[in-house]
Amino acid sequence: MNKLKMLAAAALAAAMLPVFPTYNAEATDTEDSSLRCDVNGDLTIGAADMVMLSRYLLGAQGITAAEAERADCNGDGTVDAFDLVGLREQYVYNCSHIPQGTWIAEDMSGTRYFWFDENREGTFTRCDNGTLTPFRLTSTGGKLTFALSSGAPTGAAISWTDDTHFSLKWDGAGLENFRYVSDVRFDKGPYLSGTYVIDGREKEISFGTNYSASLSGKSFNVLPQRDAVWFLYDDGTSEAASFSRTDKNHFALKWQDGRTANFTRREITVKDGITYVNGILVANKTYSLPSTYDPKGLTPEFSKAFTEMKNAAADDGIGLTICSGYRSYSYQKQLYEKYVAVDGKAAADTYSARAGHSEHQTGLAADINAAEEWFIGTPEAKWLDKNCWKYGFIIRYPEEKQDITGYIYEPWHVRYLGKENAKLVHDSGLTLEEYLGIDSKYAY
Ligand SMILES: [Zn+2]
Repeated sequence: MNKLKMLAAAALAAAMLPVFPTYNAEATDTEDSSLRCDVNGDLTIGAADMVMLSRYLLGAQGITAAEAERADCNGDGTVDAFDLVGLREQYVYNCSHIPQGTWIAEDMSGTRYFWFDENREGTFTRCDNGTLTPFRLTSTGGKLTFALSSGAPTGAAISWTDDTHFSLKWDGAGLENFRYVSDVRFDKGPYLSGTYVIDGREKEISFGTNYSASLSGKSFNVLPQRDAVWFLYDDGTSEAASFSRTDKNHFALKWQDGRTANFTRREITVKDGITYVNGILVANKTYSLPSTYDPKGLTPEFSKAFTEMKNAAADDGIGLTICSGYRSYSYQKQLYEKYVAVDGKAAADTYSARAGHSEHQTGLAADINAAEEWFIGTPEAKWLDKNCWKYGFIIRYPEEKQDITGYIYEPWHVRYLGKENAKLVHDSGLTLEEYLGIDSKYAY
């Protein structure tokens, strides 16, 4: 954790300063550039600028108003010999300073993170896809040359604004502005994208492209490292936390002060009234199916997987049969109303679903052997519990999870998720609701 100990305080706050004009890809010339000391406006500070300013000061050459504005190196409102001194100093500074540490770079095509080490090796990462490219750096006379493992080296003129800002004018391309982030190494860390819920189901954070994120309407940058993530807030504060991934949908962060948070990916999409979370169709007390949703039976995927499971169970001397499979919306409606008439609504809600809320309507769930209390603890129930995930199923309503799933323990009720998802849910030890970061509660 020591390597995460700090972030240069100036980094984010300094990023707010309007150091360079926004690079405008539409511009046909550099008339609007206000790069300090860049007299001729070619986005680099070099000998040409010194020659031009000298000639102007000697009365040998006129300059335009825009050129005069840029030539006012010290910003005192006049163009004089002090500006030439400033220009020379700037040029010398540019020639003698090589960036180190982690920098965020912005150009018209997006954001990149650069890492420069003390041996002039480094990496850059395209923030829209997390691709990391190593480079070797050489420098001569204010010009940096980036050699990649393949292809021709690319050169860029460097112009420093202050210790935490510089720009590169790439050969034959535009200007890229850099701001300092940290002296800790930026390397290929976790590339986060998508929407996650934090510790339960309430707080939602979304990781966008460009290593951006937003939480409760506030946006900030995210800086991944090998086993850590930095959160760089717009007010200049930051915090780093070590990162550990549980599976493709879950990770945890631990801060230095001991705080931890668990992140659960939760991408909810609704199509034709059907809710999918991370691509998994969900029917529970929170999410219902429309009355028109009718697969007219158990799906072929379910049936195929069940046959496979049934045969494997038979080899172990265990007999499995489906005692209740698909139920239509209208059948579930009758069933639920019958239970309400007998036991009352509150009791019925613990073991029977309201119409539209039953997993049996999905065609992806079934009760095995007997939906009765005596089934609990039988060899068949034990076999199912231990093995069903291998065939793409989960025990949907585990023991002592009623507060989360909304249903009492039902060792007979299996839900088909496909082998990959069933294994992930099984290995997590979580209910489907916990695994997906969702609720199962009637709204009324
Ligand atoms: Zn059932």
